[in-house]
Amino acid sequence: MTQNGLDYAAPEGLLTGRVILVTGASDGIGRAAAQTYASLGATVVLLGRDLQKLEQVYDAIEKAGHPQPAIIPMNFSSATQADFDQLAVSIEQELGRLDGILHSAGLLGDITPLEMYDPDTWDDIMKVNLRAPFVLTQTLLPLLKRSPDASVIFVSSSVGRKARAFWGAYAVSKSGVEALSALFADEMTNISQIRFNCVNPGGTRTAMRARAYPAENPATVKSPEEIMPVFTWLMGPDSRGVTGQSLDAQPPRQA
Ligand code: NAP
Repeated sequence: MTQNGLDYAAPEGLLTGRVILVTGASDGIGRAAAQTYASLGATVVLLGRDLQKLEQVYDAIEKAGHPQPAIIPMNFSSATQADFDQLAVSIEQELGRLDGILHSAGLLGDITPLEMYDPDTWDDIMKVNLRAPFVLTQTLLPLLKRSPDASVIFVSSSVGRKARAFWGAYAVSKSGVEALSALFADEMTNISQIRFNCVNPGGTRTAMRARAYPAENPATVKSPEEIMPVFTWLMGPDSRGVTGQSLDAQPPRQA
């Protein structure tokens, strides 16, 4: 049996009947996860800031014959508490339940020394990468508590575990995400069945990766689809009992 999800092969229909919210579902890892969860039977709620891109993901899921998804456009840079409250109401009224959240939305910000880091960019990165996962999870707790087997996955980064020069607000936000996940897990262990875990995807072929490493040959890093096993394992019932963990979606790269 898998201990860390790396070699997990999801059985057909693993997520049938579950409702799963995926942030950053318009692109990269979030888009791949939304399509994967839908292919395993989940009704996915696609959250992102670009309606057109979300509609393309919606169409792909429908075309593949998976359960009809829902779309919630939201920009985390400007979202208010009222927007988060409305999202909770919409999920409850339209879908009646919530069994999981994948917090994949993220922004890179500037790769630059702290000495020169723009404070407004800093605030935006904190809002999108750290404040939004916190407020969204907090607002959706009442719905998650009603699920018999809820799972919340936060998305971290290697610089969230060990900061590296020039990664600025991104590194700070991701180390905050690691703490946020551990805090929710610790505080909720004895009072709910909700599981909270953090995943470091490792280098993955997305728009963000290309911005961070413009000189890298994209063929040398895994595609979002290739790193899905941990995300599926944590979202489904086979990882019951796993909470407060910080996991990797890829084995460490050989030096
Ligand atoms: P990506 O392809 O750039 O996707 C990021 C997603 O977040 C997109 O859907 C994007 O929407 C959404 N987003 C950005 N700003 C937003 C905002 N203000 N409000 C709502 N949604 C917003 O990046 P990715 O590589 O898939 O990253 C997914 C997660 O993995 C991130 O948390 C990232 O930090 C983490 N990560 C990635 C890597 C990697 O190598 N790729 C490594 C470590 C960690 P748009 O489509 O509108 O841009």
